Amino acid sequence: MIELNGKNCLVTGGSRGIGKSIVKTLAEFGARVGFTYARSSGPAEELVKEIEAGGGEAITWQADAADFEKADEVISALVEKWGSLDVLVNNAGITRDNLILRMTDDDWDTVIETNLKSVFNYSKAAARPMMRNRNGSIINISSVVGLGGNAGQSNYAASKAGMIGFTKSYAKELASRNIRANVVAPGYIRTEMTGQLDQKVLDQISAEIPMGEPGETEDVARLVAYLSSDASSYITGEVIRIDGGMAM
Ligand code: NDP
Repeated sequence: MIELNGKNCLVTGGSRGIGKSIVKTLAEFGARVGFTYARSSGPAEELVKEIEAGGGEAITWQADAADFEKADEVISALVEKWGSLDVLVNNAGITRDNLILRMTDDDWDTVIETNLKSVFNYSKAAARPMMRNRNGSIINISSVVGLGGNAGQSNYAASKAGMIGFTKSYAKELASRNIRANVVAPGYIRTEMTGQLDQKVLDQISAEIPMGEPGETEDVARLVAYLSSDASSYITGEVIRIDGGMAM
């Protein structure tokens, strides 16, 4: 039974795609949810209104996930408003795909800073309030590309594989304080971005998925809700693929 009443959550990159579904699902299960975004203030404000209209509580901040000091500011503001931080979902992520021979150092640095350094920034800032409460769950959204690699995505794959090593180290350091840290590794998930692919490409991708079609953002969000809840209280340092069997 997933029950998130009374839990205070923060999701990075919650204005669109998988992050938006996570924000909505956590709120539907009863949590108060704060979330960040990079640029899309309109959709972020809309999402806050939608959650409030459903009787929930939400708050949003424009905050570049790669900004170390901003992470501390966002988490301090959330704790000041709601009293504690119980769940952190590191979801913000980008791609800058290119073959290694053509990849620029800017492509490399931007992806590593946005996808991986962000996880350090927010997980470090979350540690103190979670230790004070002797309770916390951190969920890091990686990718099956972090497990198997992908031509043209060396920067992205390195960032997503790096998240796994970071998560396991964090889980070992903080398990004695009742703070858990887990990785969710989605396969191919239908989002606004992937929805723009033409049918032929979609058919090719679907042919490689044993379950025959891409996943939905809600599939990922329900797993995150489970890992956020006390129903998963003995799971830490785990990597859970959610990919219709694609990477098995
Ligand atoms: P989207 O591009 O649809 O959404 C990305 C979200 O992250 C947006 O809310 C965006 O905000 C935010 N964001 C981007 N850059 C930053 C930043 N520097 N600081 C703060 N927020 C930022 O992505 P998806 O929903 O597809 O992906 C979400 C996560 O899931 C990513 O980590 C991705 O790697 C991972 N993933 C996705 C898969 C898929 O098939 N879609 C598969 C496997 C993993 P804004 O709207 O302001 O730009």
